[in-house]
Amino acid sequence: MTIELTKRQEHIIEIVKSEGPITGEQIAERLSLTRATLRPDLAILTMTGFLDARPRVGYFYTGKDSNELIKAEVNKKIVKDYKAQPIIISESSSVYDGICTLFLEDVGTMFVVNSKGHLAGVASRKDLLRATLGKQNLTEIPISIIMTRMPNIVTCTMEETLLEAAKKLIDYQIDSLPVVRPVEVNGRTQYEVVGRVTKTTITKGFVELGNEAVI
Ligand code: ADP
Repeated sequence: MTIELTKRQEHIIEIVKSEGPITGEQIAERLSLTRATLRPDLAILTMTGFLDARPRVGYFYTGKDSNELIKAEVNKKIVKDYKAQPIIISESSSVYDGICTLFLEDVGTMFVVNSKGHLAGVASRKDLLRATLGKQNLTEIPISIIMTRMPNIVTCTMEETLLEAAKKLIDYQIDSLPVVRPVEVNGRTQYEVVGRVTKTTITKGFVELGNEAVI
């Protein structure tokens, strides 16, 4: 189970940690809140095991495994807050266009869309490099021939956690995921590309986590 704590709940833990045992009344005073406002937070914190309460003594810190606290922080990171702009190319473009896009946009992977603007495939560095090994004219080979195509594309949504997206990158041994929004077209699910999550995105989240003060 993952637990997401609010700023106020984190603050309560800090107070109890340094001043416990402490009564609900006293915690409320320290936060300039009423006891009633605080009640749901205290209930959550005791139910989840961060705090314990003893009658006539007050709340004290249980010293809950800090791993839980770190997990809660990690799970607060959501794809929509970190995603980058997707680099998109039409499936009728040539491999030559794809290679130019790769350099111009400074990316390792581009997402290929059909004439309706829906996700059709993914073309990566290696896909493009492989296409250059043949003797064909690169301006004449459509990128749709060399790309990895739907339905074999691994995607993520805006609402997923960064951790879930990172797991997909590891599990499928890929460098990037299109962030998609499903749309129903004639009874079939198609995907609009609304962002991109890459190893860089994950690294940014990781660095930010290290710079944040976890309780
Ligand atoms: P690189 O070419 O730089 O090694 P990847 O490791 O991401 O980049 O790509 C390896 C293979 O996986 C390529 O054939 C590519 O088309 C495919 N691929 C890349 N991203 C995805 C994805 N999100 N879903 C499915 N296949 C992908």
